[in-house]
Amino acid sequence: CGIVAYIGYREACPIILKGLHRLEYRGYDSAGVALLNGDLNVYKKKGKVAELEAFIAEKDTRAQVGMGHTRWATHGEPNDSNAHPHYSTSERIAIIHNGIIENYAALKQHLQQQGHVFHSDTDTEVFVNLIEEIQKQNNCTLEEAVRLALHEVVGAYAIVVLSRDEPNQLIAARKGSPLVIGVGKDEYFLASDATPIIEYTNEVVYVNDYEIVVIKDGQLDIRSKEDVQQTPYIQKLEMAL
Ligand code: GLU
Repeated sequence: CGIVAYIGYREACPIILKGLHRLEYRGYDSAGVALLNGDLNVYKKKGKVAELEAFIAEKDTRAQVGMGHTRWATHGEPNDSNAHPHYSTSERIAIIHNGIIENYAALKQHLQQQGHVFHSDTDTEVFVNLIEEIQKQNNCTLEEAVRLALHEVVGAYAIVVLSRDEPNQLIAARKGSPLVIGVGKDEYFLASDATPIIEYTNEVVYVNDYEIVVIKDGQLDIRSKEDVQQTPYIQKLEMAL
């Protein structure tokens, strides 16, 4: 199970797919990508990253913002619709998630009563609809909605969230599952470990539990769950060339 995301000036999809290959050693049963280029395009498949690559070969994958995921199923069998990314009822917000949301059943019931539509049996899809519902009710930014959602979910997670309404932005958070930021020049990477990042930059920030990462308009902002800004600790890795 792994996470890769990119925001910058290069084509995101090849970077993400290469990164997913580098994370294959972690084990997985399906893979997918979400790409933001005005539209939000989500492509996902049961099976190997190579099968996802074959599936999207003829598709429109142009984007400078995107994210990819390899899934190791915990809730819902391995199939195309349970593969990540998952998107919200309005199809405007997408999420990738490693980990487990323990209280997903109660949240799902509540969200269904509020009219949310579910396409999968995963715990993860609850998370993205919760974010959408909170954003709608509070008329707030995606960042604020993610922060409020994190106060409601119980479990372990590394997540990346993007929205077609705030296109030049990636939001990420972790509790219990690993997440690393790669700091490039006018570009940023997110991944489960540094292996997908190292060929582009040796400057990394390891995200701590309960931190929320907002990469927006070329700026990196890390905050606590209580919305207190944190100073990123940038580490320099040895380049393995
Ligand atoms: N619990 C989620 C699912 O079953 C995420 C699994 C993972 O960490 O890959 O879809």
